[in-house]
Amino acid sequence: MAAQVEQMKPLPDLDDPVSAPFWREAAQGRLSFQRCSVCGYLRWPAASLCPECWSPRAEWAPVSHDGEVWSFGVYERAFSAAFESDVPYVVALVQLDAGPRLIGKIVDVVPADVTVGMRVTAAFESFADDAALVNFRGLRSD
Ligand SMILES: [Zn+2]
Repeated sequence: MAAQVEQMKPLPDLDDPVSAPFWREAAQGRLSFQRCSVCGYLRWPAASLCPECWSPRAEWAPVSHDGEVWSFGVYERAFSAAFESDVPYVVALVQLDAGPRLIGKIVDVVPADVTVGMRVTAAFESFADDAALVNFRGLRSD
């Protein structure tokens, strides 16, 4: 059993009431963030209080799925057995058009084709019945 646990990929905590809605919205094909009900700030990561005005009030708001690669790295070696079948793969910091920066894999791409400034859009990867990870794939520029 222990070996099985070691080979599992780390996944978000769906028992966390503050952040779980992010992953559950993704399962519905929506990229959503907490929007402060007082000042409108998009909170990322999700938090109990707004870092701008300290209000606890917020609602989950869907935003555009699009953004651009701000920085990235190519994993040529698996640092966990759970990722051995994935290498090589690209992990990027994506500057969303909506404001927040998200870290996610760039999928369906040859790693050498990824560039800073590349336009991408969210690509959801289910990891539970009602939760998904947010990855990205390239957007055609034409
Ligand atoms: Zn606020």
